Amino acid sequence: MRLKKNVKRLLIVFISLIIVFVSVMVWKSYFGYNRLENTKNKDTDDEPVYVEHNREFDIQKSNYIEANYERYIAYKKLHSDYSDDTIITYVNIGLDRDFYTNMEDTDMSDGYLIICNKFHRLKNNYVPNLVNLGSAYGGGQLEKKAAEYFKKMADAAKKDNISIRNVSGYRSYSTQSYLYNNYVSQDGVKNADRYSARPGTSEHQTGLATDINYVSDSFEYTEAYKWLIKNSYKYGYILRYPKGKEFITGYMYEPWHYRYVGEEVAKFIYENELTYEEYYVTYILKG
Ligand SMILES: [Zn+2]
Repeated sequence: MRLKKNVKRLLIVFISLIIVFVSVMVWKSYFGYNRLENTKNKDTDDEPVYVEHNREFDIQKSNYIEANYERYIAYKKLHSDYSDDTIITYVNIGLDRDFYTNMEDTDMSDGYLIICNKFHRLKNNYVPNLVNLGSAYGGGQLEKKAAEYFKKMADAAKKDNISIRNVSGYRSYSTQSYLYNNYVSQDGVKNADRYSARPGTSEHQTGLATDINYVSDSFEYTEAYKWLIKNSYKYGYILRYPKGKEFITGYMYEPWHYRYVGEEVAKFIYENELTYEEYYVTYILKG
């Protein structure tokens, strides 16, 4: 009898404890939420916002951009497995948004390091300082310095019995427009976007990009490809759309497409196995 009473009492105490615990948790989360809202809604606040930021996200990273803060937080919620460095890099590239949305004009002051992709476009009247490559190099046109280094690269390859020829260099806005619209009518927008740039976003308009030998996946299995992978960086050229990086570059793997960025940057990108987007937002982008 006595034992039963004790068990009853214990049960009551236990249940009371649970009720108190749950109440405290509910009150805490409600209070915490309100506090955050209040901080955000205040017109003038001294430091609290900074404190809230710091707690959720490491703002001390070198390429952190204050204006992108809300986007970092939203992207981190979707990709909790990414490091803060990766979150910052990817959001700075624009990967939290769909391709071809929030387009910005290419910053032409970047010179040979300009970025032209599905978030940055060239003016439709932009034409680089072009030179003819000459038939020995496959013909077509490239920007002056890109052409000079393309020739150096092709000459070096020739010494190793490898033929390197430009099959597509500079492409004007109107040519790109014509090509893209043709692909769309054949394949639809979604498919065309995976391999053809919308006008103004084609790297070929910069005069710094070259398609080498032949535009085909099988180019990957040629001696010329093997030679380029090992040596192109020495002449300032990078493989622009590497395998497995479509989610960053916006393009399927293109073993034939190379981009001139200068020897120093090309070497760095080659050694660190970066896409140009990652390099650009980490070292060039002014936040
Ligand atoms: Zn190309």
